[in-house]
Amino acid sequence: MIVYDSRFLDHVPSPFHVERPDRLRSIVDRLRREGLFLDVQMPAPATEEELRRVHRESYVDLVRNLGEGFVDPETAVHPGTFDIATLAAGAVLQATRAAVRDGRPALALVRPPGHHAGPDYGGGFCYLNNVAVAAADQVASGRRVAILDYDAHHGNGTRDIFAAEPSVLYVSTHQYGIYPGTGPAEDVGEGEGRGFTVNIPFSAGCGDASYRAALDTIVEPILTQFRPEVVLVSLGIDAHYRDPLTSLTLSSPAYVEMVSRGAEWAARSCGHRFVIALEGGYHLEALAEVFAGVVAHFEGRTVPLALTEVLDDKGRGLEAIEATKKAQREFWNLR
Ligand SMILES: [Zn+2]
Repeated sequence: MIVYDSRFLDHVPSPFHVERPDRLRSIVDRLRREGLFLDVQMPAPATEEELRRVHRESYVDLVRNLGEGFVDPETAVHPGTFDIATLAAGAVLQATRAAVRDGRPALALVRPPGHHAGPDYGGGFCYLNNVAVAAADQVASGRRVAILDYDAHHGNGTRDIFAAEPSVLYVSTHQYGIYPGTGPAEDVGEGEGRGFTVNIPFSAGCGDASYRAALDTIVEPILTQFRPEVVLVSLGIDAHYRDPLTSLTLSSPAYVEMVSRGAEWAARSCGHRFVIALEGGYHLEALAEVFAGVVAHFEGRTVPLALTEVLDDKGRGLEAIEATKKAQREFWNLR
């Protein structure tokens, strides 16, 4: 099941901005060409109450009433921004409720992205935290939620929203040292939430072998011990070697494999309740083929992938992985 609305193409932060409508257009066009754009539902906007589970009222009011302005120098607000951002949050919420209700994977193809939006701030092209709104909705229904954030940037907003929340496991792989600068291995969350924030801070050059090792030795063991009732993926494609914004080096097949492994884990362990939401990713072909590969996997098919170079076959990220294991052994049984 796919939740999508062509109104997401109306969002233009500023002329020539890298977070542009063509990103989503490229994914949808490829899915259509592959016969994979199926079972598509239109979203309803998230309500005020749903937004307030993760954002302060004053911040929601700010974005709604700003008119023309900025939440950070690269994240412009226009009169229509609030409506489209609430629609994106509503789309991930709807996909998550459907996945939980029906016991099958769901995909939310949305813009603007959300994982840099925190309780009372936006930034990094994000206004409202789509995945956090959906996760908080499940927590309100008494469920434990895991968020796997595979965007190349640390999801500081999601981290801050759930840092003290033991019902939400937040796991992020990211390039450490680039925007927003947060997400060291030693950040394990706060108070009751300690151990439920897991950061894997990769350096430039990390790719296929490093991500595989992180999944084998950290992500899947912690998921299995945490036993979430639903898994949400903040899926940015900016860790791809063709992405212009970062220096991580995942190939398309490794991306598809990483997400498919999450779906297979959810199929075995939490009743297929698996949700993917688009975050960043700025190379159009990489975006299109990774999403096509993932949706094809759901349908028991494969699609041809063109961006297959393996630039990290040795596991350049083993040092980061060791640092994360060291910080997390207090909370989890890790080899
Ligand atoms: Zn990103």
